[in-house]
Amino acid sequence: MLTDSTPAAVVPTVMKSAVLTAVRTIALADAPVPSPGPGQVLVRLRAVGICGSDVHYYVDGRIGDAVVSFPYVLGHEPAGEVVALGAGVTGLAPGDRVALEPALSCGHCEMCLVGRPNCCPSVQFLGSPPVPGVYAEYHVFAAHQCVPIPDSVSFEAAATLEPMAVGVHAVNLGRVRPGDRVAIMGCGPIGIVTAMAARLAGATFIAMTDPIPSRRAFAAAYADVVLDPSAGDVVDPIRRAAGAVDIAFEAVGVQEAIDDATLVVKPGGTAVIIGIPAVDRISLYPHPLRRKELHLMLARRSNFTLEPCLRLMATGQLDPGRIVTHRFPLDRLADGMELVHAYRDGVLKAMIVF
Ligand SMILES: [Zn+2]
Ligand SMILES: [Zn+2]
Repeated sequence: MLTDSTPAAVVPTVMKSAVLTAVRTIALADAPVPSPGPGQVLVRLRAVGICGSDVHYYVDGRIGDAVVSFPYVLGHEPAGEVVALGAGVTGLAPGDRVALEPALSCGHCEMCLVGRPNCCPSVQFLGSPPVPGVYAEYHVFAAHQCVPIPDSVSFEAAATLEPMAVGVHAVNLGRVRPGDRVAIMGCGPIGIVTAMAARLAGATFIAMTDPIPSRRAFAAAYADVVLDPSAGDVVDPIRRAAGAVDIAFEAVGVQEAIDDATLVVKPGGTAVIIGIPAVDRISLYPHPLRRKELHLMLARRSNFTLEPCLRLMATGQLDPGRIVTHRFPLDRLADGMELVHAYRDGVLKAMIVF
């Protein structure tokens, strides 16, 4: 893994920010560098991942009932360097290299109190309308959103922590146990990190599916069987290869993949839907699913999995190095979005680097 030198922090008053001004239109604009309030820190961004959800907002201006009002700044997969502290911040210093938790939950509702802040009804999530995101040179965060990263973890690797945390959360939710046989629909970044996490949890067989040849080729390093769902049925071939599937993960957000994930698991098995459908309604096959008393779960983002992922990265057990396939400067964010949208050039994870 690469490490990055940390140059001395000189904080300017004006910064560049990549602003979504209309669907598929991003303009680089000058914006004042924000100053950290009490309990906050100013972070100079060094790497920000481009997420499939960013691309949804870029292309459609919305994901379901979450609608962008323009102008708007996207971005929720940041890593950077602390450059200034607000009043009362302890335990952090300028120059600290940090990954950042993108969610700020209320801390006092029932879901927060039972340890599920990812389901907090008033959670504020970076780059999810109306909360501004981090496609900018600087951003202010609550100090407790900062997770210091060891020298062995690069900024680029740290910027993959959010999707990594999503995969680990899904595997925790689905309760993958040693010896389990797993199917994963979708070989995009979330499918791949789910496969990595499932393997760490002890899965002995992993089948993956994706219609995109470059993604199937990438997934071959993580899966025992990789199938093309556009070429025919995948459910029977996976069942035959695995013997039976204990847990399936859907990491696409489309009807066909949800059908495959729910149909492929054994009686009493579990299907975890991670993908975010672009549509407002999906359907299920009630009869085969009720006959096997399918345990169906829908995952939301991540939950206390950022720091475990960082520890796994520091030990090399989770290696994000192979996930990042493309890098762009901030002024080429639109090119990165278009690349990911078109699945061009074998892209898996594209990243803005500063
Ligand atoms: Zn993301
Ligand atoms: Zn809450």
